Amino acid sequence: MGNQISMPNDSDHLVEALHMSNGLTSVFIEVLAMSGSILANTNREKEIIIWLAQRDQSVVGIGTVGFQIDDMPWTLDTFDRERKFMMRTISGAMDGLGWERLSYEPHKERIIECLNQFRLMINAFDKESIDLNIYLEWSEIEEDDDRSTIPIGYPKCEKHDIYLSCHGCILCNNGS
Ligand SMILES: [Zn+2]
Repeated sequence: MGNQISMPNDSDHLVEALHMSNGLTSVFIEVLAMSGSILANTNREKEIIIWLAQRDQSVVGIGTVGFQIDDMPWTLDTFDRERKFMMRTISGAMDGLGWERLSYEPHKERIIECLNQFRLMINAFDKESIDLNIYLEWSEIEEDDDRSTIPIGYPKCEKHDIYLSCHGCILCNNGS
């Protein structure tokens, strides 16, 4: 089955959807989460990486983590900075940033191909497609729920130095 990452419905003709096997998807998310955890400075940047790290198939189920670019928690005010940050994160992942923390060696050519296609999608994504409610609903702190979606204070895994999602550390969960 695998997972699919695609453009919003109204612009899916711009860049072909990215289909990945479940195993390749895990590598894809892990290398992005590592690169982004090293590069993130602002809270918004950290949150984007936490959102990606939440797509942890070992917790939420294999083959269930596909998404459209407009599902990501973009905001309107700082979208340009958020997009530039994602571009840096993707470039870092392509350069192998943090890969030494993985317990396996990613198939470099294949993962770079996928990252490159993801980069084309982020680049083609139009600010007009942002629905701010997606960010607001995702980042909302439930008052009667002591486990919020975004761990308070943006803690990192002590072993992997990667941002924790509500599911914990994606690398610990996957055996790295
Ligand atoms: Zn860890």
